[in-house]
Amino acid sequence: MRSPVPDYLAEMLRACGDDAGALADYIPELASADPDRLAVCLSTIDGTLYRAGDSDSEFSVQSISKPFVYALALADRGLPEVLRWIDVEPSGEAFDELSLERDSRRPRNPMINAGALTAHALVGDPEDDVDTRVERIRRLMSACAGRELQVDRRMYESEMSQAYRNLAIAHMLRSYGVISQDPRDVVSGYTQQCAISVTTGDLATMAATLAAGGVQPTTGERVLPMQVARQVLSVMMTCGMYDAAGDWMTTVGLPAKSGVSGGILAALPGQLGLAVFSPRLDSHGHSTRGVRICTRMSSDMGLHIMQAPEPARSTVRRDRTLRRADGSLARVCSLQGALQFSSAERVLRTVADGRSVALFVLDLRRVSSVNDAARRMLAEMLRRLQVDGAEVALLDPDHVLDLAEQEVVRLPERWSSLAPLAGHVRV
Ligand code: GLU
Repeated sequence: MRSPVPDYLAEMLRACGDDAGALADYIPELASADPDRLAVCLSTIDGTLYRAGDSDSEFSVQSISKPFVYALALADRGLPEVLRWIDVEPSGEAFDELSLERDSRRPRNPMINAGALTAHALVGDPEDDVDTRVERIRRLMSACAGRELQVDRRMYESEMSQAYRNLAIAHMLRSYGVISQDPRDVVSGYTQQCAISVTTGDLATMAATLAAGGVQPTTGERVLPMQVARQVLSVMMTCGMYDAAGDWMTTVGLPAKSGVSGGILAALPGQLGLAVFSPRLDSHGHSTRGVRICTRMSSDMGLHIMQAPEPARSTVRRDRTLRRADGSLARVCSLQGALQFSSAERVLRTVADGRSVALFVLDLRRVSSVNDAARRMLAEMLRRLQVDGAEVALLDPDHVLDLAEQEVVRLPERWSSLAPLAGHVRV
């Protein structure tokens, strides 16, 4: 069977309607782009890339570089230091606004140009030269895309020839001591980062890397720490679409970043990366057809991050108490599915209700995953059962519950089947 996903993507391109809007013309090289190019790609976090349209045609990444450079600044300097210089509040302003917070003099967020220039300056060592910073950025973006990306020199020269606004912002940043380098160097480096060439397929893979918490889907390499990916996605959610962030949040509901060349990158944490490309822009500077495609796909495929998931099947699959030959009680609690806070709470509530037993068996054979919160909650439950005098056994052949010695009174005995309890009477 041929997967229907590419056909669905091709249908999205057919259904996205007539093009409207205009090419970004403040960068001469962008004004001469072919306005009719159109592509959509979707990457799963385990590395399958679906594509439709002009998915191999290259364009400059522009502002879609900003989340990755913010990520690099976070990885290099740590969150507290980066927060000292760049806030995380939506600005509700256009991307190129000459603005700083009134009291702290910080740029409001790393997605508008003032914050992005600051993030660029925070990459690596403050003494690094422009080439060193740009090379580190190029390498990170290449690692996320899974191939070597290059700076398009023509695009860079073209934007530099008209970079009056970004130079004004950088001089403002320098005059308030937000950046320490020469403002012209910071604009040069930032403009090179924006001129890195990508395809729609690259962007979908880069989005999937963020969605996977920093693990590149095809190479399996951890390119960013998990906490950094979380921080970047959070800022994309609130600030990535500039002065259309609220509209985007309510309709599409995915952390995203757009660029003036016509790309949009969006990520659904834990599931997928999505990218679209169509150069004509709306009044906020976002690809007109790109926004339409993302809106339609989010609604068709239930991708909105605030859409409450279907209630999971009951976590406690079976809960039985048996009387053993010596008259003592054994309780066997069988769980299923993916365990996180709310499902572990359900288990704790069920177990806390029961009477005391001499043996408690936790059967995890049908549990697919246990997140850290659930693991700590179950460990504490086992510890308390032991303190109450119960012996504890685990039926966990796949080791989904990875307990540390200090988390329980005695590490529970591991069983591979319920055979030791066969023949005992159910009460
Ligand atoms: N290089 C562009 C600029 O700084 C990026 C803007 C964007 O893509 O939104 O003006």
